[in-house]
Amino acid sequence: MHGDQIIIIGAGPAGLMAAQILAEKGFKVHVYEQNKAAARKFLVAGNGGFNLTHSEEIENFVQKYDAAEIQDIVRQFDNQKVISWLADLGITTYVGSSGKIFPTKNFKPIQVLNAWLNTLESLGVVIHYGQRFVNFDDYFVYFCGNDNEIKVRYSKLILAMGGGSWKKTGSDAKWMDVLAQKNIQITSLQPANSGYNTDPKLHHLEGQYLKNIEVSFGENRRVGEIVFTKYGIEGSPVYYLNRFTRKHHFPLTVHLDLKPNLTETEILKELQGPDNNTSVLKKKLKLSATAINLLKTLDKGSYTSPDILAGRIKQFPIEVLSFRPLDEVISTSGGVSFSALNSKLELIGFPNVYCAGEMIDWEAPTGGYLLQACFSTGFWVGNSINEA
Ligand SMILES: Cc1cc2nc3c(=O)[nH]c(=O)nc-3n(C[C@H](O)[C@H](O)[C@H](O)COP(=O)(O)OP(=O)(O)OC[C@H]3O[C@@H](n4cnc5c(N)ncnc54)[C@H](O)[C@@H]3O)c2cc1C
Repeated sequence: MHGDQIIIIGAGPAGLMAAQILAEKGFKVHVYEQNKAAARKFLVAGNGGFNLTHSEEIENFVQKYDAAEIQDIVRQFDNQKVISWLADLGITTYVGSSGKIFPTKNFKPIQVLNAWLNTLESLGVVIHYGQRFVNFDDYFVYFCGNDNEIKVRYSKLILAMGGGSWKKTGSDAKWMDVLAQKNIQITSLQPANSGYNTDPKLHHLEGQYLKNIEVSFGENRRVGEIVFTKYGIEGSPVYYLNRFTRKHHFPLTVHLDLKPNLTETEILKELQGPDNNTSVLKKKLKLSATAINLLKTLDKGSYTSPDILAGRIKQFPIEVLSFRPLDEVISTSGGVSFSALNSKLELIGFPNVYCAGEMIDWEAPTGGYLLQACFSTGFWVGNSINEA
């Protein structure tokens, strides 16, 4: 057993992974969590299909991250290692049709979490619930909880308090003020994996899907599925574009290619035949009812002109007014800058204090890439401390 007292703040996937790695190496690990239960966001992620990582080959996998630093960290503890780690917990997995990795159907999210917590308990990890981190200095970390304030001495301190969405899960990003007051460089939190609020003239399409379309913003494009909502559009190609649109001011325009496998000339040729446009769209171009409903939002002159209609099928403009509110989105970009961290993910200005998970400034699409990076950064920090 090492003499070092490891204190981890945040019982989310990143903090718990760091706890496991260090406890396995013989460290005494205490996790402090402001909620009364662990990993509430992890469980929320399980609500709509619990994709814990993705099966993609690792070199393509790491391209999903925006920062080179996180790519290297994910390579060290990759998707295959997540699958093995889950197997060691007794959780079997399968690859879904989209390549995402899920626990097999017999495991509900809470069972995955409980298997993990049981393993941590057997390794001697102690989790202190209802303790809110409020500050730290070179030796102590300060908590507020159960009507009293406590200070705890640390040898190594790991901050793993998550991003800033879904505050009700505990990820309220209040840590930002504490770190900012210490002049630690932080990028402001922004919505990531966010839907777009669009021009209200599309709101009547709520609930309708467009599959196998391409969504683009300038040179950036992604094929996939989107759904219209009462406020705008959601879907993985939209989430992919977030990081590019974020650099611009709203309102801005994204474009849909409703028929990616045909050229505008091929479409025009069909539209120039004797049949009326709606009939061609349905029967010859085989556009979905939703795509046709969308095209019908064009003014009559555009809809009836083969030239204009062919152009709109390939480049339908959608005016985007804003992101969804921060609290509602799946993840947040921004957080502790890599420039504030050394290669061990240790704060440059505060030796012995490390960061892990979504509170660091990286972003990735949903589909298992977010949880993967949280597991990987937890692993990385745990190993860095062990090797120090
Ligand atoms: C609706 C939804 C769906 C998602 N789906 C997926 C998905 O399918 N695939 C995927 O890969 N990812 C998904 N995610 C994202 C994923 O859940 C997060 O990226 C991940 O949970 C972040 O892990 P973390 O450990 O960094 O932080 P968190 O999970 O946010 O955990 C941080 C912990 O720190 C605690 N904490 C915060 N501040 C303090 C404080 N001051 N004192 C003490 N404790 C504190 C919090 O209470 C929390 O328990 C989804 C997220 C949401 C909201």
